[in-house]
Amino acid sequence: MTSLQEAFDPDQFRQSAHQVVDFLADMLGDSQSGTQEKVLPWADPQSALEEIQRWAAEARPDSSSDLANGLAGDRALQLFQKTFSRSIRLHHPHFMGHQISPTLPVASLAGFVSDYLNNGMGVYEMGIAGTTMERFVVQAAARQFGMGDGADGFLTSGGTLGNLTAMLAARSIKAPGDVWVDGNQQLLAVLVSDQAHYCIDRAARVMGWGKDGVILVPTDAAFKMRTDQLDSCLEQAATNGRKVIAVVGSACSTATGSFDDLVAIGEFCRHNDLWFHVDGAHGAAASFSSKYKRRVAGIELADSVTMDFHKMLLTPALATALVFKEAKHSQCAFTQQADYLWDEESGSRSGNTEYYDLARRTFECTKTMTSLKVFSILAIHGAEIFDANVTRLFDLSQSFASLLETADDFELALQPKANIVCYRYVPEHLKTIDDEQDSAENEVAVDDLNRRLRTKLAADGKFYIVQTKLNGRHWLRSTISNPLTDDEHFLALLQEIRDVANELVN
Ligand SMILES: *Cc1c(COP(=O)(O)O)cnc(C)c1O
Repeated sequence: MTSLQEAFDPDQFRQSAHQVVDFLADMLGDSQSGTQEKVLPWADPQSALEEIQRWAAEARPDSSSDLANGLAGDRALQLFQKTFSRSIRLHHPHFMGHQISPTLPVASLAGFVSDYLNNGMGVYEMGIAGTTMERFVVQAAARQFGMGDGADGFLTSGGTLGNLTAMLAARSIKAPGDVWVDGNQQLLAVLVSDQAHYCIDRAARVMGWGKDGVILVPTDAAFKMRTDQLDSCLEQAATNGRKVIAVVGSACSTATGSFDDLVAIGEFCRHNDLWFHVDGAHGAAASFSSKYKRRVAGIELADSVTMDFHKMLLTPALATALVFKEAKHSQCAFTQQADYLWDEESGSRSGNTEYYDLARRTFECTKTMTSLKVFSILAIHGAEIFDANVTRLFDLSQSFASLLETADDFELALQPKANIVCYRYVPEHLKTIDDEQDSAENEVAVDDLNRRLRTKLAADGKFYIVQTKLNGRHWLRSTISNPLTDDEHFLALLQEIRDVANELVN
């Protein structure tokens, strides 16, 4: 057997796959039984790099290492076990950090199968199942948003790319002239709240609009866009020679999980003939929750919506839907010709509105079979599991907020509207008192304490939380992502924070 034949050996594959699945199932069990101590097995970048260089050496059969004498399958298992040992664990109930979902087991398996199949998806014949599943998934999302049968869209690689693609479509429809052919003929801009995700700013700059291509609408005390300011922002833009083509509503914002008033933005856009895009990368998933879907009321008015399945919908990253209320708009982001990819007879040259041949509409050419991951969840568990998960995460976040409010030594930044909670630790001796001088010093000390707390928590690895700046002050931030997290884990986190703070002071 040649080394290639050996590497493709079906029996080896079967054996190592079984071993790997057994291992992952054990880890899933450990994360639930509380026997897995760390959520983040921290290592500094230099020592982590040295470590993985050792792994590479040990995984070779001719290595002198004792570990390396087993079969290829055993060596694969060992390699993946080591990988696990240095990876953050999203299934751990103490994972309360950035916005990403623990993967549902069936969706992990879908990932495994789709990586085996490796269908390229750019054209229909390179992914028949994947392409048609993608349509199914996008239509399920559109229905959830309350859009009619006329909606259409596609899956793409992340909210960032989804938002850029939506802005490209908005430009092609609302900008004067043919920008795709002639370039920007006029200074363009988009209105977003000052809490919008940085990718909107990036999209504007990528499109050549410069830093003034994004006009920031101020937010209120709950970090929601002040829609009463939209008119004056629009006027100001015109005075500065900028043509505004779109408004982006955040549903929800990244830092605090605040939902903009989509009904108000939708009406403003209709009135002023502007494109209405909803950046629902994180929060559009609320539309699956019967209890919380009112958070995104007005989403059905949007011309386009971005929604990540990998943030609250249990799907492996990256899995993002970009949905257009009008199917024909989903063809507009890229209007250049790439004729060798498409069948002339299907009419691809002029106004083809067929959904297949996805690369016409997506930034990607070769694309992963993301749809299988979402489709497998929908087919096997039904949309009910999305409802159950979002509802559970939002409920849990309110429960966490109540615990923070009851604790004398913690402050809650604002009532959570999604599964994002911002808070800080304020021990008795740093509480703000009346004397102005003292309170300014205390603020600095509280910010500093919370910053150091967060760093030490990450290094200890027993809990994972992140941080953010709100109005110039430092806050701890948790995205409640694991539906198996519970109040006891929140209480344990608060105690851990107190203990770590004591260690830092002493
Ligand atoms: C996470 C997020 C994004 C970026 O999405 P990715 O999938 O990480 O590229 C964009 N907008 C908002 C509001 C987000 O929360």
